[in-house]
Amino acid sequence: MNTKYIFVTGGVVSSLGKGIISSSLARLLLSRGYRVTIQKFDPYINIDPGTLNPYEHGECYVTVDGHEADLDLGHYERFTNIRTSRANNVTTGRVYQSVIDKERRGDYLGKTVQIIPHITDEIKRDVKLLGNTGDYDFVITEIGGTVGDIESTPYLEAVRQLKWEMGDDVISIHLTYVPYIRAAKELKTKPTQHSVKQLQQVGIQPDVLVLRTEHDIPAAMRRKVAQFCNVAADAVIQSIDAPTIYQVPLMMHEQKFDEIVLRKLGIVPQGEPDLKAWNVFLDKIAGAQEVVNIGLVGKYVELQDAYKSIGESLFQAATYCDHRLNLVYIHSEKLTDENVEERLRDMDGIIIAPGFGQRGIEGKFTAIKWCREHDVPTFGICLGMQCMVIEYARNVLGMTDANSTEIDTKTPHNVIDLMEEQKSITNMGGTMRLGAYDCELRPGSRAAKAYGTTTVSERHRHRFEFNEEFRRRFEEGGMQCVGQNPRTKLVEVVELPEKRWFIGTQYHPEYQSTVLNPNPLFIDFVKAAIAYGREKKEEAPNK
Ligand code: GLN
Repeated sequence: MNTKYIFVTGGVVSSLGKGIISSSLARLLLSRGYRVTIQKFDPYINIDPGTLNPYEHGECYVTVDGHEADLDLGHYERFTNIRTSRANNVTTGRVYQSVIDKERRGDYLGKTVQIIPHITDEIKRDVKLLGNTGDYDFVITEIGGTVGDIESTPYLEAVRQLKWEMGDDVISIHLTYVPYIRAAKELKTKPTQHSVKQLQQVGIQPDVLVLRTEHDIPAAMRRKVAQFCNVAADAVIQSIDAPTIYQVPLMMHEQKFDEIVLRKLGIVPQGEPDLKAWNVFLDKIAGAQEVVNIGLVGKYVELQDAYKSIGESLFQAATYCDHRLNLVYIHSEKLTDENVEERLRDMDGIIIAPGFGQRGIEGKFTAIKWCREHDVPTFGICLGMQCMVIEYARNVLGMTDANSTEIDTKTPHNVIDLMEEQKSITNMGGTMRLGAYDCELRPGSRAAKAYGTTTVSERHRHRFEFNEEFRRRFEEGGMQCVGQNPRTKLVEVVELPEKRWFIGTQYHPEYQSTVLNPNPLFIDFVKAAIAYGREKKEEAPNK
């Protein structure tokens, strides 16, 4: 079978969940035994989202091979359990950089370099890169942005050409929004019609329409959309608000989304997708009664996309522990010694979030001190781990001015310091220590027990590290460095063994937690939080 290409575009408004629809389709095709990958093409000019502020773009996701990627790649991995890489995320910046490099090399000698054909050819080449490996039956390509944006025009032109060139091996799925006008008590399909027209104007006839809606769209209305948009009536399906994103594959399957896609690509669907393992997870979501309360201390609390992967990892862990997750975002900038007790006391476990820079960092120290003194399960991730180290140095080891040189370049107790190889770096983009590295865990440590092994591989995104010079003082003073890189000896995991659960990781375990393969460290943390919550209840049953 030829590799089949499925394009997913969006119209009317952004944030419709193209990533979730693409991931759900991938899940269904995988469950039918096909080999599938998903890639995201982003129309902005940044080379990658690594330098983007979370306010602009939510979380920056990191792939195994060290690419700083769009957060949708996180959804792809969580749904498919398949690793993505640099090749799965392309931006306009990358496309132009490559074309300009070729121009400088002389590859186009004699030609005027233009958007069409040079930029569109480069996009087409990138689209087919993964498909050409022969590793996939289906390549799903999500085009970022909204149809009609100036920036997405070259991508749509590339899609049009590919559809023309590859015929039956390509289909286009368009996701739009059907608003509900409350005063008129009516759903409105006009924006969808306009959006499809816009797509048709650039020469793309969508094969399947997915209508995002908050209310059930009657069959007659779907038929009307089909008629106005030249789409087969059974290929107009709805994506109604779901209790969790993990429900979406089933909701799509109920409307035969996967079968329609297969048929449009000339494949006769055989049998049903095997969703057994997925359904175990969904049943656990539905069956969970008891609540586990986790507080996440960070500075981007108003913006939950900033901690997307952490939230999803906690949700997966809570679900597998048969609990409902109550995730409370706690603003680190607003935490003080006076209010910390009141803000944290109802939590069963605390996450100290990753991050960069000074803002909100003192609140993290305040939270860590309170958690340590009250023996609350605490999990520090990246900057969160570094803060655990600094707090311990200041309040237990007597180095009151301890800091990270990221915050105070002159501190004499630089317990967290810039990595040696980072000292000569001047460019900000793509230059952190990125991607997966091995970590050796001390046998018998809490972390090793959680993983059930002493060698793990997790993903990274940092410039600063635990300062080796202080290792002995920490270990003698109680904080154990239980995880390290086997080659460089860089400290990856610290813990306080006498506490219920007090672990910091330099790496980001959240990037590797998927529905079918949840991260063991998150599971162990949530278990500890549940146990602690129960203990608290037994001590004060009326609270
Ligand atoms: N700012 C810290 C560093 O660069 C931590 C980064 C992070 O939390 N991702 O090392």
